[in-house]
Amino acid sequence: MSMAIYDVIVVGLGAMGSAAADHLARRGLSVLGLDQFHPPHDQGSSYGKTRMIREAYFEHPAYVPIVQRAYELWDDLEAFYEQQLFIQTGALMIGPPQGVLVQGSEASAKQNGLPYEKLSASAVKERYPGLRPADDMMAIFESRAGLLFLEDCIRAHLKRAAQHKADLHIHESLVSWQIENGIVQITSTKDYYKAKKLLFTAGAWLGQLLPDINLPLEVERQIQLWFEPRHPEKFQPTCFPGYMIEDNHSPPYLYGFPMVDEGKIKTALHHGGQLNQDATSVDRDIHPEDVEAVRQRLEKYLPDANGELVESVVCMYTNTPDEHFLLDFHPNHPEVLIASPCSGHGFKFSSVIGEIVADLLTDQTPKFNLDLFKLNRF
Ligand SMILES: Cc1cc2nc3c(=O)[nH]c(=O)nc-3n(C[C@H](O)[C@H](O)[C@H](O)COP(=O)(O)OP(=O)(O)OC[C@H]3O[C@@H](n4cnc5c(N)ncnc54)[C@H](O)[C@@H]3O)c2cc1C
Repeated sequence: MSMAIYDVIVVGLGAMGSAAADHLARRGLSVLGLDQFHPPHDQGSSYGKTRMIREAYFEHPAYVPIVQRAYELWDDLEAFYEQQLFIQTGALMIGPPQGVLVQGSEASAKQNGLPYEKLSASAVKERYPGLRPADDMMAIFESRAGLLFLEDCIRAHLKRAAQHKADLHIHESLVSWQIENGIVQITSTKDYYKAKKLLFTAGAWLGQLLPDINLPLEVERQIQLWFEPRHPEKFQPTCFPGYMIEDNHSPPYLYGFPMVDEGKIKTALHHGGQLNQDATSVDRDIHPEDVEAVRQRLEKYLPDANGELVESVVCMYTNTPDEHFLLDFHPNHPEVLIASPCSGHGFKFSSVIGEIVADLLTDQTPKFNLDLFKLNRF
């Protein structure tokens, strides 16, 4: 039996948990991090090489100051890791003038004084010959957006956490937990541990670990596909941005990245996947209809990208009912913090979520208004 009483046990060392372990350990706290796999791995929500980061946040203007801090923290992590974690490519939010992407991005940009351009469909086609938006679409372009190399971001957070003496136990799962006299006691597949605080960053597995509060979460199967473009010169990161395109299909959003992988371009639908109670029941195979659904949109909006399919991956979103994050203390246990379900748009924030979590677990007031993420909204 282990005798140490850790300051914090972190359950799950994916995007959020690796960042949290890093921030906590760098504040001098004793940290135990557990993961059932070896992060970064292909079984959770943090796999597939790239994640988009953007500032004119169509989902809600409240995210803007938070993502601005995330940018600073990614820069800082990149300097530590001495390897590129971020590429600035700009991003286009394309869709009907009254649609969610155009309206939401413009509102966020205006409210937060961010520079942006509003482009007609013909201006988009002229500037980015790889894109073919419909004539009645508009686009919001923000130059600061780009992509993060997600597996390297996780490796970097874990490396820095370990350098600051976090105990990181891979291939070790949390089995059960309880609080006795204000002390957290957990049993893992390998040992028994105690701590003052417990942080759940278990992503798509979270619901299973907190059955007592019956969180209203859904785990959504999501496919990422890589194609060999017919005209690769049109999709290079030096001349092609990240993009999202909204139309009246279901689901309404196609998104993708410039070619940062040797000879292939990644694209995917945002939402529209099968819903599951938890991670264990997600179908991990790719089916022809998964590919066809993406190809139809590619042929319409990026025909020169619609080449041979060369790679595919199944991933998962952990969705809340309103698609805002869940970042709050357990309603019955002030020692337990929950920080994970990000409804498919959380990666870019993971650096700052690490910092926020460290504030919350050390009784400091986070710099941001977190009301949007409270548990009692459900
Ligand atoms: C296809 C796809 C595209 C996306 N695109 C974007 C994007 O462009 N931009 C963006 O910002 N976000 C994006 N997201 C969302 C983002 O990737 C996720 O919000 C984020 O990666 C989730 O991180 P997490 O730490 O919550 O989960 P994970 O990284 O999955 O980590 C959870 C960890 O908990 C561990 N775990 C679970 N149960 C236990 C247990 N009992 N014991 C020990 N360990 C346990 C798991 O093994 C796992 O490693 C996308 C997501 C997907 C799936």
